[in-house]
Amino acid sequence: MPTGDLLRSQGEAQEALHSCAAKAASNQFGRKVFLRAVVEVSNFCRENCAYCGMRRDNRDLARFRAHHNELAELIIHHRPASVTDINIQTGEDPVAVREVVLPLIRTLRRETPLGISVCLGTLDTALYSELKKAGASTYIIKFEIADPALYAKMSAPGNYKERLEHIRHLSASGWRVSSGFIAGLPDQSDHELLANFTLAGALPLDGCSVSPFIPGDETPLAAAPIASIDLTLNCMAGLRLMRPDWVIPAVSALNLAGPSDGYRRGLRTGANLVTINMTPSDVRGDYLLYKRDRFIMTEERILAAIAAEGLEPSLQSLADFYHSQKRANSSSVLKSVATAA
Ligand code: SF4
Repeated sequence: MPTGDLLRSQGEAQEALHSCAAKAASNQFGRKVFLRAVVEVSNFCRENCAYCGMRRDNRDLARFRAHHNELAELIIHHRPASVTDINIQTGEDPVAVREVVLPLIRTLRRETPLGISVCLGTLDTALYSELKKAGASTYIIKFEIADPALYAKMSAPGNYKERLEHIRHLSASGWRVSSGFIAGLPDQSDHELLANFTLAGALPLDGCSVSPFIPGDETPLAAAPIASIDLTLNCMAGLRLMRPDWVIPAVSALNLAGPSDGYRRGLRTGANLVTINMTPSDVRGDYLLYKRDRFIMTEERILAAIAAEGLEPSLQSLADFYHSQKRANSSSVLKSVATAA
């Protein structure tokens, strides 16, 4: 479990930390990095997180819901060749889930071999089941902030207890679950930051991300300082050392927290998943998780970053990897039962 000193480390101590994390990732996954694409389907959101420009109180934001046919055409016929998985993402917008996401998953399941992840917020259990039945297998649901008081202060989605119950429910009902937290929130204490590791370790997760806090222009926190890239990367390294087996993404916001080399440093700190943005360019600017001025990760940029760090795109999809892990786990359980008998 990381300590406050470890998360604040700099200079040689930091280099040693990052190289241990990279070694842990390479022992587990070799040089392979999973490569998925994301489509952002709707920026409507019923939540009001203080750190996000898509919060419902942002009345100036032009809201959009993409069309199923346009997205299906884009993903089936124009996705980059290196993409093995797709992540379908929305604000918390159950209408978009029913009208766009579900038909899109069914079409993609029928027409492509892509692994399908979704990141749609908390929904009712019947809708989770429909999504799974349609063909999605990984649910991305960040717990955002582990400290309950800070969670409430930041108006993070729904309520704390409920969010964790949803994470546990998803895992118990057969989803692969990836979660995540925010590093460097305004006035976040070491105690609050470290609580994220304790909670991540206690939840039934298959992966976890660390996102640097980015003060969005259209949020109540617009004047707060941006998270330090060093703190963010130290958290990623701490997470990798805590759970060498987890899938840990290099999030695109690393480009905002560390404009010159934040993303590549993420790959040097044990990240093993990267994401190409495939959201149609006419609506991409209004998907305001961070700032309007987004740094769009294209296939060219992603492949260049992977190659520059001596890594390789995985040919196996994330969904297949999880599936094979599950098979390996059940056969080792069967072996131990047989040995015990
Ligand atoms: S972080 Fe997610 S749930 Fe919160 S306002 Fe933004 S899109 Fe909505």
